[in-house]
Amino acid sequence: MDPPNEFGRFHRQIILPGFSQQAQQRLRDSHALVVGCGALGCASVDALVRAGVGRLTIVDRDTVEPTNLQRQSLFTDDDARRGVPKAQAAAQRVRAIDPTTVVRGWVDDFRSDNAISYSEGANIIIDGLDNFETRYLLNDLALTREIPYVYCGAVGFEGMTFSILPGDGPCLRCLFPEPPAVGVAPTCDRAGVFGPAVAVAAGFAMSRAIGILAGVTHAHDRDLISFDLARGAMRTTALDAAARVSDCVACVQRKFEFLDGSRASQTTTLCGRNAVQVRPASPGTVDLNELATRLAVHGTFTVESGRLRGELRGEPTREGGCYELTLFEDGRAIVRGSTEPSDARRIYTKYVGL
Ligand SMILES: [Zn+2]
Repeated sequence: MDPPNEFGRFHRQIILPGFSQQAQQRLRDSHALVVGCGALGCASVDALVRAGVGRLTIVDRDTVEPTNLQRQSLFTDDDARRGVPKAQAAAQRVRAIDPTTVVRGWVDDFRSDNAISYSEGANIIIDGLDNFETRYLLNDLALTREIPYVYCGAVGFEGMTFSILPGDGPCLRCLFPEPPAVGVAPTCDRAGVFGPAVAVAAGFAMSRAIGILAGVTHAHDRDLISFDLARGAMRTTALDAAARVSDCVACVQRKFEFLDGSRASQTTTLCGRNAVQVRPASPGTVDLNELATRLAVHGTFTVESGRLRGELRGEPTREGGCYELTLFEDGRAIVRGSTEPSDARRIYTKYVGL
């Protein structure tokens, strides 16, 4: 039996080396912002609520789908059948795990124009994202608001995580100055994702996040960790002050291009066409033939006259039809099937990659 005090539920954590009732109280007084509640977001939210983080804000634009259930651990078959928004399903699950946790789930696109208001009062920013553009936005947000940001990514059998502590060590743009060009980075919808890779990445990431919030640190907390479960390989790279780039655009020059909106992707509703144009923030040259091959499992795509075109099967529109994707070599796309910019951005992120 746990001892009968208010920390009874957390007894096995409190007795760990470095932890204490004071550390537990710090967790109770903490507020975590989780941006994106797919597989990484689910694993992170689950770890944070069970560790005793007192307040959680979850932002996600998507609804639960059957193909999420293989790895998105907060959701159920019923959530998928009813198409419940992920932020709402996650918040409901958090309340079921610990009713004393204060949780808000927001069904929204996390953008430069709402990032600051969602980060109000947050002590840490957790990356549960599926796209690079929003990660660069989180980096700007973390540096501007001086909030630690835990980067986390997983695709295929691989994953990577590291922490960005504003004013102490490198930021995301010191390590990766520019996001990958459009269509280059693999996405979970094109390359697949192994559930255990999510668990390992989120495990390392939440170990850092809980440590930062509780004030419990370990020698290698600042390392960048990358792993490949298919090869049984893991690499750690020390991210000390030397990893900081002396002329970094973000943390040294303090140009926050992703937060001020100058590097945000643009969406334009095409009136009368039931379509939205997506123009990525970092245009590049997309290999349309290669992308058509990768997308073949999701529909029939053809490439001609410098554009890729096809219908996405298994991705119903709000009216129950099919989305049609037209992608040009410079990364510009027209998503037909909705007039909602958030729908077009979601389709683009999943099938092309931002
Ligand atoms: Zn930097």
